[in-house]
Amino acid sequence: MARYVFITGGVVSSLGKGLASAALGALLQARGFSVRLRKLDPYLNVDPGTMSPFEHGEVFVTDDGAETDLDLGHYERFTGVAARSTDSVSSGRIYSSVLEKERRGDYLGKTIQVIPHVTNEIKDFLTIGADEVDFMLCEIGGTVGDIEGLPFFEAIRQFGQERSRGQCIFMHLTLLPWLAASGELKTKPTQHSVKELRSIGIAPDVLVCRSERPIPEKEREKLALFCNVRPDSVIAAYDLKSIYEAPLAYHREGLDQAVLDAFGISPAPRPNLTRWEDVADRVFNPEGEVRIGIVGKYTQLEDAYKSIAEALTHGGMANRVRVKVDWVDAEIFDTEDPAPYLENFDAILVPGGFGERGTEGKIKAAQFARERKVPYLGICLGMQMAVVEAARNLAGLTHAGSQEFDHEAGEERFEPVIFHLREWIKDNQKIARDVLDDKGGTMRLGAYTAHLKDSSKVAAVYGTHRIEERHRHRYEVDIRYRDVLEEAGLCFSGMSPDGRLPEIVEVADHPWFIGVQFHPELKSKPFAPHPLFADFVRAAKEVSRLV
Ligand code: GLN
Repeated sequence: MARYVFITGGVVSSLGKGLASAALGALLQARGFSVRLRKLDPYLNVDPGTMSPFEHGEVFVTDDGAETDLDLGHYERFTGVAARSTDSVSSGRIYSSVLEKERRGDYLGKTIQVIPHVTNEIKDFLTIGADEVDFMLCEIGGTVGDIEGLPFFEAIRQFGQERSRGQCIFMHLTLLPWLAASGELKTKPTQHSVKELRSIGIAPDVLVCRSERPIPEKEREKLALFCNVRPDSVIAAYDLKSIYEAPLAYHREGLDQAVLDAFGISPAPRPNLTRWEDVADRVFNPEGEVRIGIVGKYTQLEDAYKSIAEALTHGGMANRVRVKVDWVDAEIFDTEDPAPYLENFDAILVPGGFGERGTEGKIKAAQFARERKVPYLGICLGMQMAVVEAARNLAGLTHAGSQEFDHEAGEERFEPVIFHLREWIKDNQKIARDVLDDKGGTMRLGAYTAHLKDSSKVAAVYGTHRIEERHRHRYEVDIRYRDVLEEAGLCFSGMSPDGRLPEIVEVADHPWFIGVQFHPELKSKPFAPHPLFADFVRAAKEVSRLV
C-alpha cells in the first residue's frame, strides 16, 4: 500500500502547488521510489473538458481519454508517469457518481449526506491504484477554507485518521508576504491558514512557504512554533527563473528530506539528481536563441497553451537554444497582412482551438509559412487549417472549409475538407456519436495509433513507423480529398491503422511543414523532448542561422 502525501494550499491561490507536488514527485523518484500524482478539484464541472481555456487554461488529455486539469501536465512532465483518468477528480464527478448510485438504489434507502457518502466516494477514489506505487501524492485544488473544498478536506482528514501511523502526511503551501514599508516577511497569514486547517482536524507535517526574500532563521522558528511543525520542516520556496529548476531548488531547501523524515523513513536513500542537473544546465546555458510565433486564439492567457509552451522549451533544450515565444492573435489577420507580423520568426506554430473565430487568420499564417518556406507546425486545428489552405490555394478548391463552421455547410460549392466525424474505431470497437450528444467527453479522445509512411519526413523525425499520440477533437480531414490534395503537393504521411483517418500531413516541397491531428505537446518532457518539437526547433535554429 502506498504512502500518501496530501498537498493543500492557503493564504492565496496560484502559489504553485502543482509545481511543488510535481517537484516532490521527481525528488522521490530520484531517491528510487515509485510515485503517482493525483489532483482533487473542488469545482462542480464534471471535468474541465467543457471549461473555456480563458477560464481554466489548457485541458490536459490522458492516454485513456480523460479531459483533465493542466496540473496533470506538470505531473507528467516532471515524473514521466503517464497520467490516467483516475488521477483527476472534481466535486462534480464525485457528486454525479453519488447521485447515480442513489438513483440506482445502491444506498438501500439511506439518507444521502456529505459525510459519509460524499467523503466515502472521495476516499474510494484516493485508493485506486494504491498498490502499484510507493508514494501517492494528492493535491487538493483551491485553498483551505473554500466552501467547495470542505468535503475533500474532511475526506483526507478521515483518510489520515484511518491509516496506521506513518502512512499519511500533510504538506501545506502558503505565502509569506513581504512588507516593504517595514522591511519584513510576515508570518501571520500562514499562522491563520494553518489554524484554519487545524480547525478541520488536519495538522500539517511540512510547511512550504513561498517567499520573494530569504526567510530569516528567526521567522522560520516562529513559524515552526506557531504552526506546530519542526523547524526543518519549514521549507522555503523562492521564485525561480525556470520551473525546471524546482526539483533542485526544493532539494536544496530540504523538501524531500522533510517528507521522508515525516514518514520516519531512515536512513533515506541518497538521491540521484543527474537528470535534473542536466535539465537545468540546458535551460540556463543555451548557445543561441530562436524566435517562434504562435498564431492562436487564446493568446491572452498563456496557460491556455501550457503544454505547447513547455514542449517548445524542451525542443530548445534538445538543441541547446532558448526558445523565445511570441503570441500573435490570429484575428489580426482578418484585416491585416500577416507578413509584417510573421516575417521575423524562425518558425510558426498554429495550435489547437475550437470555433470559427480567428480561423481565417490561421489559414493565412499557414499560407505565409508554406509560401515563404518557414518551418510550420500545425497542431489539431492548426493542421486542419493548413489542409484548408492547401485545398484552397494548391488544389484550387476555393470554397474549401470545415464543417465546424457550419454556416458554410449550406452552400452548394462548399467543400468540407474537414468533416464532422460521427463514427470511428477504438481498440477494435466502433464508437458512434450523434450531433445531439452532450458537449462533455464526446470527442475523439486519448491515445490512438498512427502508421507513418515510408520515407516521409515524420517517419525520419520519429525514427519509427508506428506512433501513439493523444487526441481531442470532433472533426477530421476527409480522406475523400486525399488524391486531389496529394496531387497538389500535400503528403498524407500518417494514417490511422484502418487507413481512414489522416493523422499527419506534410508539404512535400518545403523544408519543414508538418500538420498533426493529435497533440504531441502532451507527451513531451524536459528530459525526453518530443521528437516533433525537437526537430521543429532544430529547423527553426537552421533558419535563425541563415538570417
Ligand atoms: N475544433 C477542432 C475539432 O474539434 C480542433 C480541435 C483541437 O484543435 N483540439 O476537430
